Amino acid sequence: MCYAIPGRIISIKGRVATIDYFGEKRTASVIGDLKARAGDYVYAQGGIIIDKINQDEALAILGTWKERFFELKKKDMDTLTRGRAEGEIASVLEKAENGGFLSRSEMETILKTQDSGLETLFGTANHIRSSELGNSCCVHGILEFSNYCKNECAYCGINKNNTKIKRYRMTIDEIVERVGYAVEELGFKALVLQSGEDDYYTDDMLIELVKRIRERYGVLLFLSIGERSFDSYKRLYEAGAYGALLRFETSNPKLYTLMRPGKKLDDRIGLIKKLIAHGFVVATGFIIGLPGTTEADLINDILLTKSLKPDMYSFGPLIPHPDTQIGKMKTKPVSLNLALKTIALSRFVDPKAKILVTTALETLEKQGKRKGLLAGGNSLMINLTPEQYKGKYDIYPGKTQDQLFDESNNGPLVASADQLDIKTQDTIRETLDLLYSLGRAPTDLGR
Ligand code: SAH
Repeated sequence: MCYAIPGRIISIKGRVATIDYFGEKRTASVIGDLKARAGDYVYAQGGIIIDKINQDEALAILGTWKERFFELKKKDMDTLTRGRAEGEIASVLEKAENGGFLSRSEMETILKTQDSGLETLFGTANHIRSSELGNSCCVHGILEFSNYCKNECAYCGINKNNTKIKRYRMTIDEIVERVGYAVEELGFKALVLQSGEDDYYTDDMLIELVKRIRERYGVLLFLSIGERSFDSYKRLYEAGAYGALLRFETSNPKLYTLMRPGKKLDDRIGLIKKLIAHGFVVATGFIIGLPGTTEADLINDILLTKSLKPDMYSFGPLIPHPDTQIGKMKTKPVSLNLALKTIALSRFVDPKAKILVTTALETLEKQGKRKGLLAGGNSLMINLTPEQYKGKYDIYPGKTQDQLFDESNNGPLVASADQLDIKTQDTIRETLDLLYSLGRAPTDLGR
């Protein structure tokens, strides 16, 4: 299994290498103490060279990919359909497709689109995705290593006041072992290590963890551990964790403090900006549909994400959790169409963005992943948390639904622990089948 295609460095200027993938040229940076020179075969993720690979192995992998690479490209082209919209939305979409700058009222028109206009809206976003970035689709793995959290976020099921959930922490040995399985057995080249804000793991422990992983595996590690000091993040970067997933949650400062008691939006944004300036590969974004949010807020959320210039957009619909403050309020559920419109609008606003189709979309609807990929999305994450912990990382209900779905009757299935581990592999296979059926190559070629 392969989630990255090796490329050949054709030239290096300073720390920036130009890499060839079957004739396509992309750039990636050489970081840390990796020695790379023209002629080397390398894996790149998020614009960073994460590993070298010997020529024989690279040529063997490229041999198995060559035909498929071009077949998939053709298939992607074949899936590019567009209905024909009428009225105001038609002219807004034409402008978006021609690279025009959309006004706020045009963005609102997009978010208000209903019924027959949706097909053209999503189809146009899919066209732009294909013409700007081709058919590559990042597939990252995510490992949720602790559900302890010191925060009281009003939306999140693992908030510290939820006494109903069983808490767990993986040991450093367990995390290293699971990462090894994900990289060596399952073929992942980029992994997110996520947890609540859990001070049990000191900086030194996390640094040891990152070093142990990076000594053994060529993988781009993203940390998704919430707010720590910039100094802590810098040390973690030096240890080899070059990525961070840190959403700002909402661009509305008042709502932010209401949703995250004791916290300030400026602090979160300040940290995200520092991480990006330091060279971290950052994924950031927001939650769609927090209580009281308007279309104007959603547009601000998208524009703030763009202004941060992250490597990847990560946003998803609010799924109310019964054991949270929000769960106890009557919050209007977010429709799948609004989530898809947010993907499409983000694609218009930032045509070259990597836009993650989050698992929360699948919680809304089984076809959510597919529909997100056809509405402008081009990145996915697969949950690789070990079966005994999966389900306990209960930030929102129905999160592991994809692991619990029985294809034969489309109904929920009560599965035993070892069936669930098989389900992880099934999810990977289903995801690859989905990508191939849409003509997408499960690889991050970068820009
Ligand atoms: N502690 C880390 C990781 C938090 S969980 C951090 O602070 O960054 C990852 C993301 O899940 C959060 O950033 C939030 O955007 C999302 N999330 C939490 N609860 C949710 C819910 N009920 N519905 C949808 N998304 C939710």
